[in-house]
Amino acid sequence: MTFKASIITLYPEMFPGSLALSLAGNALKNGTWSLETTNLRDFGKGKHSNVDDTPAGGGAGMVLRADVLAEAIDVTTDEKDTRPRLLMSPRGKPLTQTRVRELAQGDGVVIVCGRFEGVDERVIEARNLEEVSIGDYILSGGEPAATILLDAIVRLLPGVMGNEESGETESFENGLLEHPHYTRPAEFEGRTIPEVLTSGNHGKVDEWRHEQSVELTKARRPDLFKEK
Ligand code: SAH
Repeated sequence: MTFKASIITLYPEMFPGSLALSLAGNALKNGTWSLETTNLRDFGKGKHSNVDDTPAGGGAGMVLRADVLAEAIDVTTDEKDTRPRLLMSPRGKPLTQTRVRELAQGDGVVIVCGRFEGVDERVIEARNLEEVSIGDYILSGGEPAATILLDAIVRLLPGVMGNEESGETESFENGLLEHPHYTRPAEFEGRTIPEVLTSGNHGKVDEWRHEQSVELTKARRPDLFKEK
């Protein structure tokens, strides 16, 4: 089954962008997932196809119109479409690997990319949009956030990652950050590889990696560690 991503955006040229390359690009080419865009401009109002207007109550910037966005959503989906409708938004619930995994298990996603100051609150309610944030900072638009979300989802789709195991030991999958990695050469600018890793003792290697994960997580992400 193909995972279907529909993106509603003022900048369809931004897609597939980096998703046309590497793991996600190969998966797109072989039909593991598909991508379509809906250009918000096509639903703009008036001679200039306006999609935004000044904020009620005054203030800086412009707001995406509810009617324009609702029409774009309605032509992109139909009643049978059960895919989650996500609105990229700094006010949203911060994206986690758990949510990414859930989304990857579904049929696809509809992603709305915001622009300007954001979108009219009424369309968020009326079209049941789930606001998703990719972190506590502000982008100029939802498109790069949508790319990040899709990148995270697509690599989890069946058959996309060559080595299935590597997905399970990754940072966050077990509530811990990943241990450090090393490869050849054996010595780099006077720095050697921790001996345990070249000992051939897999039990000891696993133990060392787990300890390193725990220490790193405690030091860098005490918030994650507390959740364990
Ligand atoms: N005025 C808004 C920010 C608007 S930024 C506020 O203060 O909350 C313009 C658009 O970029 C947003 O509508 C959203 O779609 C996208 N965006 C910006 N930062 C984001 C983030 N951290 N995560 C997800 N989307 C983001």
